[in-house]
Amino acid sequence: MPDFAVVGGGVAGLVVARRLAAAGAEVALWEASDRLGGTVAGHEVAGIRLDAAAESFAVRGGVVADLLTELGMAGEIVEPAPGPAWLQPARGDAVPLPATALLGIPADPLAPDVVRVVGRDAAELAAMLDTAPVGTVPDSLGELVRARLGAGVLDRLVAPVVHGVHSQHPDDLPVERAHPGLADAVRATGSLGGAVVRLRAAAPPGSAVAGIRGGVHRLVPALADDLVRRGGVVHLGARVDDLGSLDGTPVVAAPGIAAPAAPGRRIDLVTLVVEQDELDAAPRGTGLLVAQGAPVGARALTHATAKWAWLREAAAGRHVLRLSYDELPPDPVAAARADAESLLGVRLPVVVDAAHVTWTRPAASSAAPGVAVVGETVAGSGLAGIIAHAERTAAALVADPGLPAR
Ligand SMILES: Cc1cc2nc3c(=O)[nH]c(=O)nc-3n(C[C@H](O)[C@H](O)[C@H](O)COP(=O)(O)OP(=O)(O)OC[C@H]3O[C@@H](n4cnc5c(N)ncnc54)[C@H](O)[C@@H]3O)c2cc1C
Repeated sequence: MPDFAVVGGGVAGLVVARRLAAAGAEVALWEASDRLGGTVAGHEVAGIRLDAAAESFAVRGGVVADLLTELGMAGEIVEPAPGPAWLQPARGDAVPLPATALLGIPADPLAPDVVRVVGRDAAELAAMLDTAPVGTVPDSLGELVRARLGAGVLDRLVAPVVHGVHSQHPDDLPVERAHPGLADAVRATGSLGGAVVRLRAAAPPGSAVAGIRGGVHRLVPALADDLVRRGGVVHLGARVDDLGSLDGTPVVAAPGIAAPAAPGRRIDLVTLVVEQDELDAAPRGTGLLVAQGAPVGARALTHATAKWAWLREAAAGRHVLRLSYDELPPDPVAAARADAESLLGVRLPVVVDAAHVTWTRPAASSAAPGVAVVGETVAGSGLAGIIAHAERTAAALVADPGLPAR
């Protein structure tokens, strides 16, 4: 009989199962679908193996790099091309995102690259508001930014960036989830701009995100192989609805099992492989985030072959563009092509191949009493936070298998 029954074979479930097995526990993992990895998946478009969803991870805390090192993949970690992402504002031309910012929150609202995005009036209001004494730090990032920097900075700068990273409006994102340490830094420095300066100074030099040569989806077989090598047993096509039916201490790594979950948010991702030499110059750097009200349906565009050198090589002169949508246009590929032309400012007459994938991002759920829960519902969106939380949870369970998640 296994010591632990992990329900859900996404990255969170795989990480917790592997860590428990590495500590000598007998682990069974139950995955509803016929493949492991959940939202981390690969697919082939125009014969190129690509990430079908997550394509990078935050380097914050070094936790993903540590895991990859344990899996023998340290040499496969790659940095994206340098340079800022761009923003397509509601009106006017695309602009590079301000260089000194955190989730779009500017260190200095009066910096020229901030003024260019939000306008002089909103920048001056932000600078004035952020001098007020800090009282209680609001719970949501939206409230915090609105109070300290005004609605202009929130709507024109922070909301599109936060939406691109978390697929949520800042009003729906707790400050703690947006960036652990942000609330403390605001209190310590007495301003939101000061907090951004402090947190950026504490971050390691280099890019805030990294990838894996060949795609982030390579993490999944590496974790699964290591789990099995350590004696873990994987059951595919094995949906679990009743934790009481399982042998061993349950660890929940799938939404809606331990605690009721609100409906998830849908995201559609359209990948285009195109031929267009004008894209060699990467006219919008590694891609753009799109502000609400802009005249395109896409919420973000990643110029993947400009972002990742390994992919540029694999694409052999073609370009890979990824566009994400909150609301699916009637003809996703045609819409993505038109949006890409508008956002990148080039014509795209030759689309070699395209793919459209639909994902659901689960809503946050409260921790369930007495049951260990890992994954996006409790740790927030993003591999770095999810992996760190799953590692902590496994360590706590090893120390005391009766403990629920923390
Ligand atoms: C389009 C897109 C792009 C993204 N890009 C990035 C990125 O670049 N960087 C980043 O860090 N993050 C990114 N993310 C977020 C990241 O991929 C997720 O936060 C993370 O993969 C979630 O992992 P998880 O294990 O918590 O959940 P999931 O990956 O959702 O895994 C849950 C698993 O549980 C299984 N399951 C569900 N119900 C049951 C049941 N009843 N019984 C058994 N099994 C069940 C599911 O089949 C699934 O395999 C992106 C997400 C999307 C959608």
